[in-house]
Amino acid sequence: MEFDGKVALVTGAGSGIGKAAAVRLAEGGAKVVVVSRTQEEIDETRDEIKAAGGDALSVAADVSEQDDVKNVVEQTLSTYGRIDIVVANAGINGMWAPIDDLKVDEWDKTIRVNLRGTYLTLHHTVPALKKQGGSIIIVSSINGNRTFTSPGATAYSATKAAQVAMAQQLSLELGDDGIRVNAVCPGAIDTEISDNSQQRNSDEAEVPAEFPEGDIPITGGKPGESKDVADVIAFLASDAARHVTGVPIYVDGGQSLLR
Ligand code: NAD
Repeated sequence: MEFDGKVALVTGAGSGIGKAAAVRLAEGGAKVVVVSRTQEEIDETRDEIKAAGGDALSVAADVSEQDDVKNVVEQTLSTYGRIDIVVANAGINGMWAPIDDLKVDEWDKTIRVNLRGTYLTLHHTVPALKKQGGSIIIVSSINGNRTFTSPGATAYSATKAAQVAMAQQLSLELGDDGIRVNAVCPGAIDTEISDNSQQRNSDEAEVPAEFPEGDIPITGGKPGESKDVADVIAFLASDAARHVTGVPIYVDGGQSLLR
């Protein structure tokens, strides 16, 4: 199988895109370390992988807390001895509000989880990846890269643009170590992310724009599924993408081209 002998670490694997990526990598033969804030969520992902005949370890962690991330990496190495694939996926929409209404705490929370969390995930896993090379996939978004029409999403968009910058910068820094670094930029995907989204007066930040009926061309307007993103993550993790590094791949059914 394509990921036989490989160890993958997936953050935010309790639901949505991260869970689908963890399941997909396990189907390909990878041993998968599933990480998210709540033990219950990731135990479910782990059990699902095991029930399908795969191998998984669940470790609860807040990706914005250094000690938590360190512990994840320690547990991964003591259980499986290596890390080949890292999917830095954990993220929140956070508060979407006009800039003069967005509070410092709200700004900080989005930056902490999405950006500091990505930094900590890579900071602590790269030493293990350097031992034999590997693949890092950062889950960014169309927001902040091709799309700037989600009203009030300034903090979120800033983190998502920064994640693509990190992928490009690190693809050069880590190339010599045989580590590829890429980003995926999903459009609207049907997940649980609305549980971690708040909006306050965001309509005040909206620039009226009329999109054609059904603004995701390839599905007639229907959001994508987590599996649509997971398959692209698996491609980037696999040897089929051996010459691909430093690129954002849009997984949005063409949505961002319309916006
Ligand atoms: P989701 O809410 O379904 O899943 C997010 C997962 O991350 C959950 O398991 C949650 O517990 C975990 N998580 C959140 N904060 C965490 C923290 N501090 N530490 C550890 N784990 C944490 O959301 P999703 O839509 O699958 O989002 C995954 C990624 O995809 C995010 O980075 C998001 O920005 C990105 N994305 C989603 C969409 C979409 O439409 N759903 C579009 C573009 C990008």
